[in-house]
Amino acid sequence: MAFWDEQIETLPREELATLQLKRLKNVIARARNSIFYRNRLADIDESQFTKPEDVVQLPFTTKHDLRLNYDFGLLTVPQEEIVRMHSSSGTTGKATVIFHTRRDIANWANLVARCIVMAGAEKRDVFQNIISYGMFTGGLGLHYGAESVGMLVIPSGVGNTKRQIQLMKDFKTTVFHATPSYILYVSEVMEEEGDDPREFDLRIGFVGAEPHSEQTRQKIEDIYDISAFNSYGMSELNGPGVAFECEEKSGMHFWEDQYLLEVVNPHTGEALGPGEEGELVVTTLCREAMPIIRYRTGDLASIVDDGEPCACGRAHVRISRIKGRTDDMLIVRGVNLYPSQIEDVLMSFPEVATNYQLYLERKGTLDELTVKVELYPKMFTGDLRMLRKLENDILKAIQDEIMVRPRVEFHEPGSLPRTEGKAVRVVDLRKEN
Ligand code: ADP
Ligand code: ZN
Repeated sequence: MAFWDEQIETLPREELATLQLKRLKNVIARARNSIFYRNRLADIDESQFTKPEDVVQLPFTTKHDLRLNYDFGLLTVPQEEIVRMHSSSGTTGKATVIFHTRRDIANWANLVARCIVMAGAEKRDVFQNIISYGMFTGGLGLHYGAESVGMLVIPSGVGNTKRQIQLMKDFKTTVFHATPSYILYVSEVMEEEGDDPREFDLRIGFVGAEPHSEQTRQKIEDIYDISAFNSYGMSELNGPGVAFECEEKSGMHFWEDQYLLEVVNPHTGEALGPGEEGELVVTTLCREAMPIIRYRTGDLASIVDDGEPCACGRAHVRISRIKGRTDDMLIVRGVNLYPSQIEDVLMSFPEVATNYQLYLERKGTLDELTVKVELYPKMFTGDLRMLRKLENDILKAIQDEIMVRPRVEFHEPGSLPRTEGKAVRVVDLRKEN
């Protein structure tokens, strides 16, 4: 088993806590150089802190704070010290910007390299980075990490699917990075072109940037005959490299030497324990240009609580898959649900292909949920009774999961809308009526 930075990855937890406390104090002092935190932290005396958990004495920072302090309100260094700007992809509302010093970029690349090596990729691999470059952090984030490891990096970005496939063939790509929705689409195009996805040289996939279920991961692994690893991050916390799966795949190791993690009740802000699902709240411990303290990520997950350190030997906590963002929650007929719950059900049916979409309408006073799913072509040649049965089975399974009875509609592969970046899973037409 390989490590990128064995000493820090396996640091005993007491030493990790000592390091976190020291870095937390430093980051608070540094944050005071920004206009925003100077006021926000005026009453805080961090010299009294005795443990990392004392972070709860600090106020939260929200996306709203970042927007209000656009552009340079959180910057702690003179502008000439910053070498890069990134932005969130604006999944929800106005974009926010993040700045990095040269050290921040090097640090980030190092973190991503840790993730890459943890997943078993190495210098001799050919890495195709099938994700947006530019202001979105997925592209450059993995790019610099992969170069640090020494892989041959093909910065192919997204789109032009046939060319992606050609590159994979010509350069014998062994590792890719992509959103789960796009890499599933690539496999459909391969099949249309008469290529077998399992016949390529691919062996490892990094998939992330959007919520996806364990079933979806298995689908990707099966289709390509690879090992797929979940990658989590967000631009406010650099981007990819915040948490990543090791070869045990029992949660994503969250790099605690770099980020201080809390899980809180999203409604009350109260601290939650391991195993309890809540909103991730994160403090950057090392970022120079733009430290962020107790950031409300909006992402829902829990700390894995199996009572054992990970068999890979890394000491850093593991987090569950991200269920979605607090603002992804749908209220349908008074019931709270997340699109990922429906994905879990859909992807457990082998007949279901790779794409689906949820439509919400209001008929009179009643919400109506239609689950549109693409089926594999061979299903359409099956007899009608079989399709009816499948429809009924899916409907029942969804209803058991979410307590709402949806309509289920079948579509041919490739017929539902697709995006090259993050998938748009929900079309909510209720507000327009
Ligand atoms: P935006 O908030 O505009 O989408 P980013 O492009 O930085 O900005 O996206 C970060 C968000 O993407 C995360 O907060 C999270 O909601 C989602 N995300 C990233 N990686 C994953 C993952 N592995 N699983 C689920 N969601 C993810
Ligand atoms: Zn592990």
